[in-house]
Amino acid sequence: DDTVARIAAGEVVERPASAVKELLENSLDADASSVDVTVEDGGAELIRVADDGAGMSEADLRAAVRQHTTSKIEGLEDLSSGVATLGFRGEALHTIGSVSRLTIESRPRNADGAGTKLVYEGGEVTSVEPAGCPAGTIVEVDDLFYNTPARRKFLKTTATEFAHVNRVVTRYALANPDVAVSLTHDGREVFATTGQGDLQAAVLSVYGREVASAMIPVDANGEDLPPGPLESVSGLVSHPETNRSSREYLATYVNGRAVTADAVREGIMGAYGTQLGGDRYPFVTLFLEVPGDAVDVNVHPRKREVRFDDDDAVRRQVDAAVESALLEHGL
Ligand code: ADP
Ligand code: MG
Repeated sequence: DDTVARIAAGEVVERPASAVKELLENSLDADASSVDVTVEDGGAELIRVADDGAGMSEADLRAAVRQHTTSKIEGLEDLSSGVATLGFRGEALHTIGSVSRLTIESRPRNADGAGTKLVYEGGEVTSVEPAGCPAGTIVEVDDLFYNTPARRKFLKTTATEFAHVNRVVTRYALANPDVAVSLTHDGREVFATTGQGDLQAAVLSVYGREVASAMIPVDANGEDLPPGPLESVSGLVSHPETNRSSREYLATYVNGRAVTADAVREGIMGAYGTQLGGDRYPFVTLFLEVPGDAVDVNVHPRKREVRFDDDDAVRRQVDAAVESALLEHGL
C-alpha cells in the first residue's frame, strides 16, 4: 500500500512547482518576512525554501510530517470566503515527503539554543537531531519522485519545470510586496524583492525596469464598473509597448488568492485588443474582489482555476476596468 500511497501522492504533487507552492504558502502562513527559494534542475534535484517565520519545536516538527495532524482553520476561513486553499489540506509535508527525501531544519523564533533537524525519507522519519540553525525554517526537498519513476519520467525539461516554479514564486512575490522573496535557479539569482515596497516596487524587482517604468495603475470599484459580481479591480497593467508573446506574465488574484479564470483573461485581452490586437500578452498584476458565493473554485483542484456564476459579467467588468486605465493614458 506504500506504492498506492506514493502513486496517490504523485497525483497531488504533480511537479516541482506544486511542492514549491505548498512550501511557500507554509512560510507565509508562518508570518515570514523573508523567504528564499532555491531550486536545482528545475526543482527535480533540489527545492529549498528558507524562511524567518515562526519556526517549529521538535514536537511541532514531528507533528508537521505526520498524516492528518494539523487543524485546518485557515482552510475553513478560505472556504467561507469562497476561494479555498486548494490541494493538500494539512498533508503537504507528509505528501511531499513520501515522494522525496525531505529535510526540515527549524528553530522557533523566540527559543534559545539549538533548533532541530528532521529527516523524512520515503514516508518515514529517519532521523531527528539538534541542529544549529537560524530562527525560522529551512525545508529541503531532494530528488523529487526518486521512488516513483513513472512520475519522474513525466517531468518536462528543466526549462519547462523551472518556468512553472518561476510563475508560482512570482505570483506570491507580487501578492506579498511586504515579504522579501527571492528565487535562485542552478546558482543564478532570478529575482529578489526587498519586502519593503509596494506592488510597483515588487514589479520592478521581478520584471525589471523597462516593464516596471511603463506600468499603468488600474483602480476601479463600485460605479466605475459595469454591473456584475466584482466589487473592485485593482493593480498594474503594462504599456502595450512592453507586451510579450507569452501568457506567463498574467498574474491574477481573486480575494487575494493567485488563481486563473478564463473570464478574467478574456477581459484583459479584450481591453488590449482594441488597442493593439494580435497575440501579444501584457504584464498584468490584477487583484479582484468578489463575494465568495459568486466564485466556483471546484473547476480543477490542482490548477487553481476558478469560474464565476456570471462569467460574462466578470469579463465585461475586467475589460472595462483595464480599458479605462489604458484610455486615461491615451492608449
Ligand atoms: P498545512 O499547511 O495545511 O497545515 P502542511 O503539511 O503544509 O499542512 O504543514 C503542516 C504544519 O507544519 C503546518 O500546519 C505548520 O504548523 C507547520 N509548518 C509547515 N511549514 C512551516 C514553516 N515554514 N514554518 C512554520 N511552521 C511550518
Ligand atoms: Mg501547508
